[in-house]
Amino acid sequence: MKKSELPITDEKWRAIVENDKSYDGEFFYAVKTTGICCRPSCKSRPPKRENIRLFKTAEQALAEHFRPCKRCKPTGERLPDHEWIALVTEYVDANYKENLTLHLLAEMSHGSPYHLHRTFKRVMDITPMEYIQQTRLEHAKQQLMDSDKSVAEVGESVGLSNTPYFITLFKKNTGYTPLQYRHLKSEQLQNGGIHHVNPNP
Ligand SMILES: [Zn+2]
Repeated sequence: MKKSELPITDEKWRAIVENDKSYDGEFFYAVKTTGICCRPSCKSRPPKRENIRLFKTAEQALAEHFRPCKRCKPTGERLPDHEWIALVTEYVDANYKENLTLHLLAEMSHGSPYHLHRTFKRVMDITPMEYIQQTRLEHAKQQLMDSDKSVAEVGESVGLSNTPYFITLFKKNTGYTPLQYRHLKSEQLQNGGIHHVNPNP
């Protein structure tokens, strides 16, 4: 534990769970899984106790790369939209294998689903759900090229365990089925390899 951190006492934990306003200003809590820093009174869903870190000031949490919560504004300032959306994309990038929904992303980033959807679209030009699918498909492409996993296994490992849906989505986005894509890429690799001279055969 760093010097700036406070121990998690039962009293502070109770203040967080009960959204006790009288503790605001005394300490701030940051949630490791979401990267967000909050005031004790924040109405967001209570985190797991093992996932939090406590700080004396919000600035100390920010120095540890946590971002201020959009709802309870621990620094008193509004979190800029692009930072809020960055929080969401980082979460998707790290959790694309999980079952992600707009509601879950809104909850974890402390905004409303409607507001998140609109703001995300404005900042990113695509919707949160489109971003999730794109992220999954990028990882799927990589695995089709780099592994011998079956199509079902690839889909499952990127959070698309419904194989027919995975294939449909993949084809819609790339123009190829996953298997066609794998063959195409391995052919491209072989053709490219002709010109490759190994200095140490
Ligand atoms: Zn908050």
